[in-house]
Amino acid sequence: MKATIIGGGIIGLSAAYYLNESGWDVTVLERGDLMDNCSFGNMGYLSPSHFVPLAAPGIVSQGILWMFRQKSPFYVRPSLRWDLMDWGLKFLRASTRRHVERSARPLVDLLLLSKNLTAAWQQSSLMNFEYTENGCIMYYQTLKKEKEEVENARVAADLGLKAEVLDREQIRALEPDLRPDVRGGVWFKDDAHLHPNTLMQQLPGLLEQRGVKILKNAEVVGFQKEKGKILSIELDTSNPKSAIHNPQSPDLVVLATGSWSPQIARLAGEYLPLMPGKGYSMTFDTPRQLLRYPCILLEAKVALTPWARRLRIGSTMEIGPVNDRILFPRVQGILEAVPKFLPGFNDDPAFRELADFEKLKKQMREKIWFGFRPVSADGMPYIGFAKKTDNLFIATGHAMLGLSLGAGTGKLVAEMANGKPTSVSVEAFDPKRY
Ligand SMILES: Cc1cc2nc3c(=O)[nH]c(=O)nc-3n(C[C@H](O)[C@H](O)[C@H](O)COP(=O)(O)OP(=O)(O)OC[C@H]3O[C@@H](n4cnc5c(N)ncnc54)[C@H](O)[C@@H]3O)c2cc1C
Repeated sequence: MKATIIGGGIIGLSAAYYLNESGWDVTVLERGDLMDNCSFGNMGYLSPSHFVPLAAPGIVSQGILWMFRQKSPFYVRPSLRWDLMDWGLKFLRASTRRHVERSARPLVDLLLLSKNLTAAWQQSSLMNFEYTENGCIMYYQTLKKEKEEVENARVAADLGLKAEVLDREQIRALEPDLRPDVRGGVWFKDDAHLHPNTLMQQLPGLLEQRGVKILKNAEVVGFQKEKGKILSIELDTSNPKSAIHNPQSPDLVVLATGSWSPQIARLAGEYLPLMPGKGYSMTFDTPRQLLRYPCILLEAKVALTPWARRLRIGSTMEIGPVNDRILFPRVQGILEAVPKFLPGFNDDPAFRELADFEKLKKQMREKIWFGFRPVSADGMPYIGFAKKTDNLFIATGHAMLGLSLGAGTGKLVAEMANGKPTSVSVEAFDPKRY
C-alpha cells in the first residue's frame, strides 16, 4: 500500500514513521529543504500541562485589549479577508467553558501518548537528541494570574497530572534568581523538553534508513481527483531544483502542511478553517546564567527553555497570513519581559548583546527565528479522513502543540489508515466537524 505525505514538518515526519512501521510504502513530499518550517525553532516543550485549547473563555477579550499594545504577545492583523473572518467567528463561537471541559480529556490523552512515544524515539539507538523530563514551571507576579493558575493546577490534578503549587520560597529554592515580587508558580511535572532542531535533523535520516523516500523541493500544486479519490499529485516543475517524481495512484495521501494546509486542502475541494499564528524565538549559545527549569512567565506569555549549553526565549501569536515581516516592538516586548522575572539576565553579556535592540534590528534575520503555528478554528487539531476525498487524511491544526502532539498524531494516522482501534479517542479531532 502506497502513502504519500505532503509536508515534512514534525507532523508529516511522524506520520511517515508510523505508517512505515506498519508496512506502508511511504513517500514524503516537502516543498523546502526540511530545515525551514515551524517545527525547528520552537520552544521544544512536550506539554501535557497545555490541556486548555486555545479557544477558551476570556481569550478573545484579552486578545482585543492586547491588539492595541505594540509590545503585547498577541495580535490579529486586521483584514477583511473572508477566511480570517470565518475563522474568527468560528473561534469566537468555540471559546466556551463547555468546549474547554470537553476538550481537556482527549487533549491530555493524546499529549501523554505523544510524550511517551517521543521518549521512546529518544531511547532508540539511531536518535540522539537532548531530552529532559523535569517539568515546566508557570510563574506569576499578580494575584489574578495566581488564582487562574492554581485553578488550572486543580483541574490538572483531576485529569491525573502532577501539578504542584509552589509559594515564593519554594520557587526561589528551585530558581534562585527569581525576583522577590514573583509570587509563586505551578510546577507541571509531567512536562518534558527536547531540542527540536536536533530532532528535526535526525528524523529524516532515520526514516530514510527504514526505506521512506523523502523528496525535497517537491511543492504540491494540484491533484487529479476522480470519484472522490485522489489519483495523482501534481508538483511544481517550474523551479529547476524541483523534484520530478509525480506520485501516481496513492492509496493514502496525508495532508501535513501546517499553516499552508487550507490552500492545499482547497486543491482537493476541501475546506479547512485554519490561520497561521506567527511566533518568534531567539536562541543564545553561551548564556552565563542558565535556568534550571523550563518556564513560562505567565503575565508576559514568554517561554524560556534551557538546554545543556543553550537557552531559547520565545513568544507571541500574530494571527494573519504568512509573511516574513518581523514586528520589532513585539520582539522587544519578549526580551524586556525576561529581566522583569529574572533580573540576573541583565548581567549576562550574551543576553545583553541579544537585547541590544538597535543592534538586533540590524541583524534581525540571523538572530530572530519565526515560525507559523497552524491554528485551527477551535484550537483542537484536525486528525482524520477528509469530508469529500476518500483517500485524503488531514493531520494539521496543532497550533502551539505540534511538537507535543507530533508522535501521537503520527501513530493515530497509521492506526486509522490501517482501520485499527486507536490508542486514544479521536472524536474531538475529527476534521469533518467543519
Ligand atoms: C515560537 C514558537 C514556539 C513554539 N513552541 C512549541 C513548543 O514548545 N511545543 C510544541 O508542542 N509546539 C510548539 N510550537 C508549535 C509547533 O512548532 C507547531 O505546532 C508545529 O511545528 C507544526 O508542525 P507541522 O508539521 O504541522 O507544520 P510545519 O512544521 O510548518 O511543517 C509544514 C511543512 O509543509 C511544507 N509545505 C507547505 N506547503 C507545501 C506544499 N504545497 N508542498 C509540499 N510541502 C509543503 C512546509 O514547507 C513545511 O515544511 C511553537 C511554535 C512557535 C512559532
